[in-house]
Amino acid sequence: MFYDYLVVGAGLTGAVFAREMTDAGKRCLVIDKRGHIAGNIYTEKVEGIDVHRYGAHIFHTNSDRVWQYVCRFAEFNSFINSPIADYKGERYNLPFNMNTFEQMWGVKTPEQAKAKIAEQIADLNIDEPKNLEEQALKMVGKDIYIKLIKGYTEKQWGRDCKELPSFIIKRLPLRFEYDNNYFNAKYQGIPIDGYTAMAENMLSGIEVRLNTDYFDLVADGKDSFGKILYTGKIDEFFGYSEGRLEYRTVLLEEKTLDINDFQGNAVVNYTDRETPYTRIIEHKHFTSVKSDKTVISYEYPLEWTEGAEAYYPINDDKNGALYEKYRAKLKDRPEIIMGGRLGEYRYYDMDRVIERALELVGEEKNAAV
Ligand code: UDP
Repeated sequence: MFYDYLVVGAGLTGAVFAREMTDAGKRCLVIDKRGHIAGNIYTEKVEGIDVHRYGAHIFHTNSDRVWQYVCRFAEFNSFINSPIADYKGERYNLPFNMNTFEQMWGVKTPEQAKAKIAEQIADLNIDEPKNLEEQALKMVGKDIYIKLIKGYTEKQWGRDCKELPSFIIKRLPLRFEYDNNYFNAKYQGIPIDGYTAMAENMLSGIEVRLNTDYFDLVADGKDSFGKILYTGKIDEFFGYSEGRLEYRTVLLEEKTLDINDFQGNAVVNYTDRETPYTRIIEHKHFTSVKSDKTVISYEYPLEWTEGAEAYYPINDDKNGALYEKYRAKLKDRPEIIMGGRLGEYRYYDMDRVIERALELVGEEKNAAV
């Protein structure tokens, strides 16, 4: 059988791309090596609760276009993420805001908070932050860096904060107002019927083959394809010929408890270095679902090794240079389009994934004219 597009990976990038190209009259085949669609946004019901099987996914965007797009496939609730940080039993509000500063220092005005931060970094003379540590210190001072950033970040990334790029910490909002709304985006929420149903709607009427490995399919040779959107790891695609890119993975330990409410919040971060997990997610708080039980997931970050799921690209200089080598190899493969967090080796949020998939669709449509 001939398909205009083979879409490798039934996650968000693949689903958006396949939907758009199918609607443009192209014949698409979507494959996934896993036994389910939706990639890492996959949710599954346990005790009536939608469990985020590959870690919490909270949709947020400031883009009207992206919001209108997702609302075609799912109805969203109005969930607002307001995580709590636990440092050795001390509790703080996140993101860093006046609540955090008051809990940390007893300050009550933005001016006092700014003065406290300035006093804490006065002897450091950081002009242009060179790494995550300097960036964090410049933003919030020594106390918050030590208690709420250093341990958590080093656990999550398995690297010293001095070796990590500063952009990672810039993801975290900093505001001198009493406001615990983490993303504070124009649009935010969780699909009421779960992300899997959203992906199902995106893929409706499109041929999907699960438990199907790209390399086996190509070796099999029964089907042929005009072009291929590949959303797996770019280094794996090229047989690791230039060396291995590094990724972080997450081990999720899930527990169903016979109690109504475990922690009273969807997300509690454990920011000290000693607690082996970074956070505990309590899934029922993402929706207003009623259940006598509750499902929680402990998140243990680990270095990615063969056989694990790759979650986070490590966008440091070394990996960036290696990624560029792979990117250059794509020039000889005009039939291949690389997309998604793993294909593009980028720390994308869901809304950026959708924007990027729509950009790829636009490029395809323009190329065809
Ligand atoms: N971070 C931190 N302390 C926290 C939460 C986050 O230092 O309590 C830092 C950490 O470096 C992390 C980054 O902020 O890698 C981004 O966190 P986010 O929650 O956005 O990560 P994600 O949800 O994508 O895993």
